[in-house]
Amino acid sequence: MRRFTVRPVLPEPLSGLSDLALNLRWCWDADTRELFESVDPVLWAETAHDPVRLLAEVDPARLTELSADRKFIRHLELARADLTEYLSADRWYQEYAASTADAPRAIGYFSPEFGITEVLPQYSGGLGILAGDHLKAASDLGVPIIGVGLLYRHGYFTQSLNLSGWQQERYPMIDPNSLPLRLLRDRSGSASDTADDGRPVIIEVPLDGRTLHAQVWVAEVGRVPLLLLDADVEQNSGTDREVTDRLYGGGADHRLAQEILLGIGGVRAIRAYCAITGAAAPEVFHTNEGHAGFLGLERIREYLSAGELDFDAALEETRAATVFTTHTPVPAGIDRFDRDLIARYFEHLDPVPVDRVLALGAEDYEGGDPGKFNMAVMGFRLAQRANGVSRLHGEVSREMFHGLWRLFDTAEVPITSITNGVHHQTWIHPALLALLESPRGDGDTVLDGYDWSALERTDRQTIWAMKRQMRIDLIEMARTRLAASSANRGIPADWTAEVLDPDVITFGFARRVPSYKRLTLMLRDPERLRRLLTDPDRPIQIVIAGKSHPDDESGKALIQQMVQFADAADVRHRIVFLPDYDISMARPLYPGCDVWMNNPLRPYEACGTSGMKAALNGAANLSIRDGWWDEWYDPAYGWAIPSAEGVDDPAQRDDLEAHALYDIIENEIIERFYDTDNLGIPQRWVQTMIDTVAGLGPKVLASRMVRDYTQQLYTPAAAASRAVGSTPQTAADLAAWKRRVRDLWPGVGVDHVESLAGETIEVGTTIGVSALVRLGELQPDEIEVQLIVGTVGPDDELVDVRCIPFPAGADAADGLRRYQGQVDTERAGSIGYTVRVVPRHARLASDAELGLAAFPQGG
Ligand SMILES: *Cc1c(COP(=O)(O)O)cnc(C)c1O
Repeated sequence: MRRFTVRPVLPEPLSGLSDLALNLRWCWDADTRELFESVDPVLWAETAHDPVRLLAEVDPARLTELSADRKFIRHLELARADLTEYLSADRWYQEYAASTADAPRAIGYFSPEFGITEVLPQYSGGLGILAGDHLKAASDLGVPIIGVGLLYRHGYFTQSLNLSGWQQERYPMIDPNSLPLRLLRDRSGSASDTADDGRPVIIEVPLDGRTLHAQVWVAEVGRVPLLLLDADVEQNSGTDREVTDRLYGGGADHRLAQEILLGIGGVRAIRAYCAITGAAAPEVFHTNEGHAGFLGLERIREYLSAGELDFDAALEETRAATVFTTHTPVPAGIDRFDRDLIARYFEHLDPVPVDRVLALGAEDYEGGDPGKFNMAVMGFRLAQRANGVSRLHGEVSREMFHGLWRLFDTAEVPITSITNGVHHQTWIHPALLALLESPRGDGDTVLDGYDWSALERTDRQTIWAMKRQMRIDLIEMARTRLAASSANRGIPADWTAEVLDPDVITFGFARRVPSYKRLTLMLRDPERLRRLLTDPDRPIQIVIAGKSHPDDESGKALIQQMVQFADAADVRHRIVFLPDYDISMARPLYPGCDVWMNNPLRPYEACGTSGMKAALNGAANLSIRDGWWDEWYDPAYGWAIPSAEGVDDPAQRDDLEAHALYDIIENEIIERFYDTDNLGIPQRWVQTMIDTVAGLGPKVLASRMVRDYTQQLYTPAAAASRAVGSTPQTAADLAAWKRRVRDLWPGVGVDHVESLAGETIEVGTTIGVSALVRLGELQPDEIEVQLIVGTVGPDDELVDVRCIPFPAGADAADGLRRYQGQVDTERAGSIGYTVRVVPRHARLASDAELGLAAFPQGG
C-alpha cells in the first residue's frame, strides 16, 4: 500500500500552532497544552492529546473562528514567544560552559528506545522513559545533546486482555508523516530559488554483505534534536525494510541488524545532520545500554578511513570520548550474540579488522563463554568511563564485571554510578506543579525553578483537597479504560462506573512484568489481601498495570493470575488491572496514588524510576530497598519492605517478604492514612506527603541526573578526548605505550616487602614499609608503587582499603628499586597491608584501567 498524508493548512494568523505542534516541548509545557486544548476541548480528549492529530482533524470552521478570536491569538502569540525564548536563551549549561574550559561542544546520546510522549510509542519501559527524560532535562538545562535512536514502524505492542485475562498484543502501524517528525533532507543539490526542500538523506550501513539504507526522522525535543533511523525505504529490498519494524521483536539476526543500524548508522546520521544544519559535532558519545555499542566501532572506522591512525590509536581516541551506561544487574539481561554471527556481519566494516571487533566483545575471563560476543563487555572496552544507574547498582555492576579487572578489588573496578532521575514537568500533576513553582528562584530548597518545600507553607486542607482531586483524575481514567477493556473482553461493563473510591487509600503498582519484579507477590496470601481490600471501615484499593514481553509466557501467566483475582465480584471495585501501561496512563496514575509499591527481588532492580515519579506527587513509597530506594530510603518518605536475601528457597523468601508487606500495610500504613482530625485531615499522612516532596524532590530530578552526567562524565570525557586527540601522534603514543606496558608487564614484580614494626603496636604509631620492586624494562615513571592498607575483615580480606602511593624510589642492587613509605595507624584493630605496582600514565582514568597490577609473590 502507498499512502500519503494530507497536512492541514492553517489560516495565516494560526500558523504558529504548527510550530508549537512540531516541537515536542508541548508534551511537558502545561501552557502550550492548554492552548491546544482550547482549540477544541472535545477533540483534544478524543485525539488523546496529540496536537498534530488535533490540527489535522479540527473543523475548518472552528479554525476560521479562532483566527478572529483576539484572546486566542494573544495566547498563541505568547506561547510562541515563550517557545522562542526557551529555544534561544542561555540556560544552565551556557553558564557552566563559560566557566568550564573542557565542557563539550556537543554530546551524542544513543539509545535503543526513547519514551518522550505516548504520541511517539518508541519505548517499552524504564530504559526508554529514562532516555526521554534525559533529553527533556538536557533541553531544559541547555545541554547540547543530539539524541539518536530508531523509528520503529510498529513501536512496542499495544496490550489488551482476552476473556481469561491472557495478554493480547497488537502492533498498530504508525505513519511518521502524521507525527511531530520531519524528514532530514539535504538541500545542497537543489537550486536555492526553488521551493524544493531537498532530497531525503539516506544513510547506508554495511549489513552481512549487503547495504542497508535508512532515512532519518528528526524530532525536536525542546532544544534537543532526536534523530530516528527508519529502514522502511524503497532502496531496501525484502526483509531489510523490516529491520526497524518493532522494538525488541524477532531473533538474533534481526536484533543485530537493528543494533548495527543504531550504532553505525547513528554516527553516520549525526554526521549528515551536522553537515546540513551546521550543528556542532559531538565531542562525547554516550552509549545508553549495550545495544547502542556499535557506535564505537563506527568511530574507529572513521579514524581508520581518515588514514592517520592505526587501530590501537583509533581505539584510544574512541575510548577517551565515550561514556557507557550499563542498566541491568540481571546476568540474563545482558545483550549477547553468537561470536560466529558477529564474525559474519563484521567482515564488512572495512577497514576495521574483524578479529579486533571480536576481541572487544570476547568473554575472555573466568566464567566467560568463548562462543559469545558480549555487548556490555564491548561497551566497557570501548568507553573509558562507565557507570551504573544507582549507588547499589554501581556496586552490583562492579561485582558483576569484576572479571574484566580481576587483579583489583571490586571497589576499584572502574564503574561509577549516577542515580537515575525523572523529568518533573512531565510527571508532576499540574495542580501540584503550580503550587511548587517559584518564580523568585531563591532559597536553598529551590531547584530548577521549583520550591520543593513549598508544601510546608501550604494550607493542609488545600493539600488534602488537591490529593483527592488527583485520586479522582486517576479514577476517571481507570473507569474509562476498564469499561473499554471489559467490552473488549466480552464481559458486561456496568460495574466499571463504580470502581474505586476517591476517599480510599490508593496503592499503585505498575511496571514491566519480568519475573524479578514479582507482580504477584501481593497475591501470596489471597485471603489476607481480600480482607485488606474489603475491610468495611478502612479498606485499601490497588491499581495495577504492566506489559509482559511478548515472548515471555511466564510473565503473561502472572498477569493472568492478577487479572483473574481482580475479576472476582467481591473485590473488583477495589483492585483493578488496567491494560496497556504507557505514558498516557502513567501520567495520571502516579499522582492518584497514596502509596507506590515495589517488591523486586533485591538487587535486580537497577534503579527503578516509577517510585520517584510517585514521590514527586507526594506518594509514599512501600518498597524493597533496591535500586534508588536503597540509597534514599528514609522513614519520612515511606516504608522499606525487609528483604529476605539470605533465604535461598525462593518460595520461602516470597513468603517472608509478602508477609512483611501485609504487616506494614495493616499495622502502619492504614493506621496513618485513616487517622484523621476533626476536619477529616490525616495530619501525619499529610506530613509524609510534605516531607517526601521536600526531601526527595531535589534528589530524584532528571535535571540533577543530567548535571551529574555533565560534570562527572561528559566533561572529563571531553577533556580526555581533547588531550588524546590533540595530534594524531598523541593517540598513537598512548596506544604504543599501552602495548609496551602490556608486553613488558611480566617483567614487573615486588621482590621483597618489610616493615619495621613488631606484631603489636599502639594506635597512632607510624610504621615504615620498604619494598624492593623489579621494573624489568619499564622506566620508573611508567609505574606507581602503592601501599594498600586496610582493616582485616572476618574472612581475612581487607576492608576500608586505602591506597597510598610510595614516594619516588631509588636504585638498589640487582636492577631492583627500593621504595619506602609510611602507614599511620588511625584505629585499633587488625591492620593488613600489601604492596602493589600499577601502570602510571597521565591519560589513564583509573589505576585499574589496563587491568594490570603486580603483587609480592605468594600474597
Ligand atoms: C516510569 C515508567 C516505567 C519505568 O518504571 P520502573 O519503576 O523503572 O519499572 C515504565 N513504563 C512507564 C510508562 C513509565 O512511566
